[in-house]
Amino acid sequence: MPSLVSIEATLDGVERALERLRQGDYRRCVECGGPLEDADLERDPLVVTCAAHRARD
Ligand SMILES: [Zn+2]
Repeated sequence: MPSLVSIEATLDGVERALERLRQGDYRRCVECGGPLEDADLERDPLVVTCAAHRARD
């Protein structure tokens, strides 16, 4: 069973994704503004950075 903290983190991610969707930059990396890969968005719809930036995390 997921903890409350992880549920809140997911909710937070969903809210940010919806906000980005409304602003039309859902498919853009928040770091560099580059396009996000379809495959990455399919794997994790809440992804916010491109492969180059995720590699650094
Ligand atoms: Zn990037």
